[in-house]
Amino acid sequence: MNKETTCVQGGWKPSKGEARVLPIYQSTTFKYDTSDQMGRLFDLEDSGYFYTRLQNPTNDFVAQKICELEGGVAAMLTSSGQAANFYAVFNICEAGDHMIISSALYGGTFNLLTATTAKMGIETTVVDPDISAEDLQKEIRTNTKLILAESISNPSLVVLDFDKFVSVAHANGIPVIVDNTFPTPINCRPFEYGVDIVTHSTTKYMDGHAVAVGGAIVDSGNFDWMAHADKFPGLCTPDETYHGITYAEKFGKGAFITKATAQLMRDLGSIQSPQNAFLLNIGLETLHLRMKQHCDNALKVATWLKNNDKIAWVNYPGLEGDKYYERARKYMPNGTCGVVTFGLKGGRDASIRFMDQLKMIAIVTHVADARSCVLHPASHTHRQMSDEQLLAAGVQPDLIRFSIGIENADDIIADLEQALNH
Ligand SMILES: *Cc1c(COP(=O)(O)O)cnc(C)c1O
Repeated sequence: MNKETTCVQGGWKPSKGEARVLPIYQSTTFKYDTSDQMGRLFDLEDSGYFYTRLQNPTNDFVAQKICELEGGVAAMLTSSGQAANFYAVFNICEAGDHMIISSALYGGTFNLLTATTAKMGIETTVVDPDISAEDLQKEIRTNTKLILAESISNPSLVVLDFDKFVSVAHANGIPVIVDNTFPTPINCRPFEYGVDIVTHSTTKYMDGHAVAVGGAIVDSGNFDWMAHADKFPGLCTPDETYHGITYAEKFGKGAFITKATAQLMRDLGSIQSPQNAFLLNIGLETLHLRMKQHCDNALKVATWLKNNDKIAWVNYPGLEGDKYYERARKYMPNGTCGVVTFGLKGGRDASIRFMDQLKMIAIVTHVADARSCVLHPASHTHRQMSDEQLLAAGVQPDLIRFSIGIENADDIIADLEQALNH
């Protein structure tokens, strides 16, 4: 099926007499007739539902739709994008391991994978996403277990050089994890470029209406864990908490998601509520329509900003002349995302004054939903930093992160114009 059809029809496929719309299985538990039936589930000998912390049908049907959209083999939902990135990493790395991450990451992911995982004994090297393949190779150690980056980074809008990261990782027998939140599978399918595992903050475009925090992990099934068994003991040696099951042997291409569910979700419990999964599914039904409108509007607005003499600079990878325009055309030819960043002549103070004059466009700590909104990282998410620290983190002090919604572009531009001329 084409991705538009998958958005609408993927996942839940009712049979005769069943609900047309995905039901919410608002139940923590599931019933069995014999003790043995339940015992086999606990041994992972049969598949089936028994407790919603491990699996729930509503969640699984929505994960299945996201899996189909990404072209993967298995997927799971998590309570948030943060949980998705943490589980994806922690399913591979343990104390004593090392990972490489791009410096162009969402701030929450950056904190998670530099400060919090360090407390668990996992070391991290941060690299510039535009590092050369030779220099990236030099950062690989014997205990390096993965490379993680964003397909389009939030908020710096760097488009990932997939070929470079994938070729260096695979030459060293390690997988690549890509957070594909900003382009979504409508505009970019990282598995087609060799990426092994994809994560999402479904809170953003997938939900699209700012109603439910959530995350997802999708596995391509392509990484051969057993071929590098010494590097990945968690997947390739027996799990004593499951009577000595070796995930990569027993579950083949399903090993990664099975382990993350049976082990990490069992022990850490960051599940998405079935109610939120239901809302996410309604969002997914229109993802293809919304992404197109977000991108069409963003291009119109970015072009208008670029031609306005009060604007100092504009970043949008869909805009001709942008630093990442050519790379975006290669990896996401149908569009990028609806997020644009820009700064005003007059710097930080002018940016703040401008934002306060906006009428329809709201100031919110969110991005990627149907309603246009702005955020000034220097005053909000990165408030504690000096201008020097901001620049080191790749956030210009005057940077406005503008998440362009699916309203009429003329109305968005009219609001910008009245605020600029105030
Ligand atoms: C928001 C975001 C996250 C974190 O997701 P939450 O759902 O807020 O936990 C991770 N990655 C990217 C790219 C994001 O934009």
